Amino acid sequence: MKDYYAILGVSKSASQEEIKKAYRKLALKYHPDKNPGDPSAEERFKEINEAYAVLSDPEQRARYDRFGTADPRQAHPADPGVGDLFDLLGQMFGFHVGGRTRGARRGEDLEALVEVSLEQAARGDEVEVRYRRMVLCDACGGAGGERQTCPTCGGAGRVRQVQQSLFGQFVSESACPHCRGRGYLLSETCPTCGGRGRLEKQERIRVSIPAGMDEDDLLRVPGAGNQAEGGAGDLYVRVRIRPHPTLQREGKHLVYRLKLGLAQAALGSQVNVPTLDGAVPLDVPPGTEHGAVFELEGKGLPDPRGGRPGHLRVVVEIAVPKKLSARARELLREYATEIGEEVPAEGWWEKVRKKIFK
Ligand SMILES: [Zn+2]
Ligand SMILES: [Zn+2]
Repeated sequence: MKDYYAILGVSKSASQEEIKKAYRKLALKYHPDKNPGDPSAEERFKEINEAYAVLSDPEQRARYDRFGTADPRQAHPADPGVGDLFDLLGQMFGFHVGGRTRGARRGEDLEALVEVSLEQAARGDEVEVRYRRMVLCDACGGAGGERQTCPTCGGAGRVRQVQQSLFGQFVSESACPHCRGRGYLLSETCPTCGGRGRLEKQERIRVSIPAGMDEDDLLRVPGAGNQAEGGAGDLYVRVRIRPHPTLQREGKHLVYRLKLGLAQAALGSQVNVPTLDGAVPLDVPPGTEHGAVFELEGKGLPDPRGGRPGHLRVVVEIAVPKKLSARARELLREYATEIGEEVPAEGWWEKVRKKIFK
């Protein structure tokens, strides 16, 4: 018997949140894509998934804690499970435990990551997502073995019982203890899936990225999660946006940092500003200050909620020259004199630096 808690490295009293955290960490580490050609990592990855499939499901976890297996077929058939008790209480007090069919659990939800460019996020695109999921075994249809109609309930999955209670005798119907409500027993273990009923499969699907999609937005793909007898879970595709070389995103707006030289800022300049649809000309007026902002309307991203598209904000950054030729220094001194700006005499910094740094 495998110790699922040890596989995930959590204690028996771990919360669902702790289990999820441990699983994510390990699944990332041992993912076959990260360990190509390493069969031990692949084996470990399978174990991690198996452990998580059981421990993340409260019903299966309870069964595992109690019987040492999550497989209802291996549990002691005469032992009434929690489900039976619920059914009984439901009948006694007249409530219905909605649509519970034990053994027909829905598959787990999954998450996959997809990286797109800023252009793709802005305009929308269709992208391929690759991920792994558990699919029902074709050979046994997910049962894990060959089905035989349960002789106790005749396949109905429920039995009638006469009960004595404080309120007198009453007849109740509850889940069949022999087949645990499934209506069938399994005669042989399926050789294809080893009785697990599911196999791991690499999937590729195409998903549409809506225009204006933001970083970490989730796209839900119903039914693309893990398959189980009760139906497939959902896949959540998390969108990551690759950094753009020149444009930064701020919600639906874009920011471009325009570097201007001293002379360009003072005298004005004609520059080209990159946008998602190619460069556009921008006239920078004379006397533009550091930090000045020009807004190019509608050059941001579309609003996925149907509002107005964002702007492209051009933020001016004045670059102060670091290395000057003797001639440039001379001209700057001349310029300072012309406008009455006080600067110390030539060579002053060398003297100061010698004093400071010795
Ligand atoms: Zn099978
Ligand atoms: Zn039965």
